[in-house]
Amino acid sequence: MISDLLGRPLRNLRLSVTDRCNLRCEYCMPEDDYKWLPREDLLHFEEISSLVDVFTASGVDRVRITGGEPLLRRDLPTLMAMVSSKPALKDLALTTNGILLADQIDALAAAGLRRITVSLDTLHADRFKALTRSDELARVHDGMQAARRVFPAGFKIDTVVIKGVNDDELADLIEYGRALGAEVRFIEYMDVGGATKWSPADVVSRADILATLSARYGAIAPIVEESSAPADRYQLRDGTVFGIISSTTQPFCGSCDRSRLTADGMWYQCLYATQGVDLRAALRGGVSVDDIGAMIRGSWSARTDRGAEDRLALGDRRAFVPVNSLKKDPHLEMHTRGG
Ligand code: SAM
Repeated sequence: MISDLLGRPLRNLRLSVTDRCNLRCEYCMPEDDYKWLPREDLLHFEEISSLVDVFTASGVDRVRITGGEPLLRRDLPTLMAMVSSKPALKDLALTTNGILLADQIDALAAAGLRRITVSLDTLHADRFKALTRSDELARVHDGMQAARRVFPAGFKIDTVVIKGVNDDELADLIEYGRALGAEVRFIEYMDVGGATKWSPADVVSRADILATLSARYGAIAPIVEESSAPADRYQLRDGTVFGIISSTTQPFCGSCDRSRLTADGMWYQCLYATQGVDLRAALRGGVSVDDIGAMIRGSWSARTDRGAEDRLALGDRRAFVPVNSLKKDPHLEMHTRGG
């Protein structure tokens, strides 16, 4: 297992399979138009599979398929089967907005998908429409039901909490998750690339989330566990468990073992990194997989990124990347990098 300069192992890989999305969430893709990755640059499934082999040989044992909206990638179950057949992988998960999930979940599960996270920020149709600029809430509910059927032992629901938008729905979302056997995780609104409307005033902190929920449910107990997972988990008195991902106000860079591969093969070692490693150029330029492995290990060994902590240390905090820079380089976008 290789570690970076802060002792963090290379373990979790987020694999973005497309930069396209069928939602336009205000906190992620608020602009009217976007510059997309050129189609010919997208890694083919064989290329992704080769890179996954290189990563697993370098210590990665957990992969999460994401995007953009990963279910927009044609023939995703074929890729899922290729990745799930890797003996070194202990975990293979997917993050989706759920719109296309009911149609695809059986094929994905048959192809080896083991865990699923569905993103949902509001239960109100009018808010969903305003927040996502889409009318597809009913299909997300269908996707949730499908997730419950295929993963009866449970799945996750991720909710970005934004002040004045959905912070009055925290308990409703917990109840919604409970009815589905799903664990809800509340994500603090982050100033990642693409969140051009971000402002500190819109962030609902972990402390605020806990205060709201304990006013409704009474004492909340933190669950003490050793984990590099981004969410801290809590338990209500009736045993219901939920999580909080406090990347904005209490970042967890010290235990971050995640890196991200974009659909066109750029590898980023931090959600806030402005520079990546071009693995597509290496692969298509004929560099051997052994040498690509050496590139990956060399780069990780020198890693010092603590992007979220650096952001927190800023006194005057505003949107991370200005719109004109995003237009020049879509790799700076969260939806390209893979959330
Ligand atoms: N389309 C898939 C989905 O909706 O889950 C996967 C990609 S999406 C970028 C992954 C996650 O990032 C979603 O849960 C989304 O809500 C979250 N996200 C996007 N922008 C964010 C922001 N500014 N702050 C916090 N979370 C954000």
